Amino acid sequence: MLLGSIEAGGTKFVCAVGDETYKEIDSVSFETTNPEETIGKCINYFQKFPELMAIGIASFGPIEVRINNPKYGYITDTPKEGWKNTNFLGLIKEHFDIPVYWTTDVNGSAYGEYINSINQKKPIRSLAYYTIGTGIGAGIVNNGELLGYMGHPEVGHVLVKKHPEDQNFSGVCPYHDDCLEGLASGPTFEQRTGKKGKDVPMTDSAWDKVAYYVAQAAMQVTLFIRPEKIIFGGGVVSEPFLVKVRNHFKKLFNNYFPLDDLNHYISSPAIKNNGSATIGNFALALKQYYKDDIVEI
Ligand code: ZN
Repeated sequence: MLLGSIEAGGTKFVCAVGDETYKEIDSVSFETTNPEETIGKCINYFQKFPELMAIGIASFGPIEVRINNPKYGYITDTPKEGWKNTNFLGLIKEHFDIPVYWTTDVNGSAYGEYINSINQKKPIRSLAYYTIGTGIGAGIVNNGELLGYMGHPEVGHVLVKKHPEDQNFSGVCPYHDDCLEGLASGPTFEQRTGKKGKDVPMTDSAWDKVAYYVAQAAMQVTLFIRPEKIIFGGGVVSEPFLVKVRNHFKKLFNNYFPLDDLNHYISSPAIKNNGSATIGNFALALKQYYKDDIVEI
C-alpha cells in the first residue's frame, strides 16, 4: 500500500511516498512560494503515484481542524504573505479522491515520534513536541491520540515569568508582546543582540534567557499533561541549548514529583534530519484510510 506525506513548512515543502510500514520510498522538497504554485507541485508529484491510497498533510498554521467548520482544511489567519485563507485540503482533494488526514506541522512531528517509539518497541504514549524557530508551537500526543478537538494547541502563546535580567525587553509577539513566542522565538535574538541566533555565541546571556522561558514551557506541559517525554526541535534548538533548558527546568520544577532522567525527559527528536513529520504523516494517512472505511450507524 502506498501512502503520501506533505510536510508543509513556511519556507520549505517536503512531499514523500512510503509504504504501510512507513518506510520512505521517494521524496522531493521545494521552496514555499505562493499557494497555487506550491500546492500545484505537490499535486504533480503525487500524480506520479496512481496507486496512492491515502495522504497525510502536516501544515504550518494556523489551520482549521474542526471537521464541521466550512473552513475545515484551510490555512486561516497566517501572517505568511499570500497564504491567508488558503483551501489547502480542498485543492488536494480536487485531484485525489482518497482519504486525507489534515493536521498541523507539529502534530505530524509529534505523531511521528510516537509511532517511532512504538516501532522501536519502547512506546511513549504521551509526549509533547515543541518547535522553537521563527515561531513556537507544539503537538501533543496524549495516550496515543493527538490533543485538540476545537483547535490545535497554541502553547507558543502561553504567558511566562520574565527573566530577572530581561525586564526591559518588550517581546516580539504581535498579539501579546511578551508571551513565550514573544520572548523565546528565533527573531528575539536579533531584537536582543542585533545578530541572528546562529551567530550568537552560547555564552551570550540571550541564550540563557531563551532557555529560561523554554524551561517554563516544559514545566507547564509537565504539570498539565504529565507527558513521558518532551521533545524540542526547530532552528533554535541544539544540545548545548537543551543543557541550559534542563538546568533551568530542574531549579524551577524543584522535584515537585518524580520524573525520568532529565536527559531523556527533555530531548531532541529521536528521528533525525526533521524526519518525524514524514513518518507521522504516513501513519496518520493510514489512520484516515481505515477511519474512512468505518460506516457510522
Ligand atoms: Zn503571543
